[in-house]
Amino acid sequence: MPQKKIVIEPDPILRKKSKPVEKVDDELRRLLDDMLETMYAAPGIGLAAVQVGILKRLIVIDISKDEDKKEPLFLINPKIISKSQQTSTYEEGCLSLPGHFAEIERPAECEINFIDYNGKKKEIKADGLLSTCIQHEVDHLDGVLFIDYLSKLKKDMIIKKLVKHKKELNKIVL
Ligand code: ZN
Repeated sequence: MPQKKIVIEPDPILRKKSKPVEKVDDELRRLLDDMLETMYAAPGIGLAAVQVGILKRLIVIDISKDEDKKEPLFLINPKIISKSQQTSTYEEGCLSLPGHFAEIERPAECEINFIDYNGKKKEIKADGLLSTCIQHEVDHLDGVLFIDYLSKLKKDMIIKKLVKHKKELNKIVL
């Protein structure tokens, strides 16, 4: 299973809206497997397809901390159908914004429907870390990043640092 390259902000693709998936077949499952491997290797607990440059409504999540007992969750065309009034705050990071973290307040619980790895329609209710993770990843499918919830000043500062970081990555030494 080949790993994929993770897109780093700023990149215009991260601001695009991903398209719904029409068919769950082996090719799509291969892509989900590759996304999962890319996420584990990073390491991260969630990854949306747009983060590997593919504008499809696909998410992989695994919030289990146990190396031996992985619990991957594959979400195809996820839709948030309800959110709680009550909120919770987590310090969020993102594989597309390496090295940057911020406390983000989101609805504490959410309910989603989605299509699973086998093409079956499912519904789950999530709370805690899973709820935040799902909302963060669904945001990616709509071109939203966690820094969009910060003040313009904080957001601009992070983007400036990322631009510098990307320039460093592109430098070559001969
Ligand atoms: Zn992210």
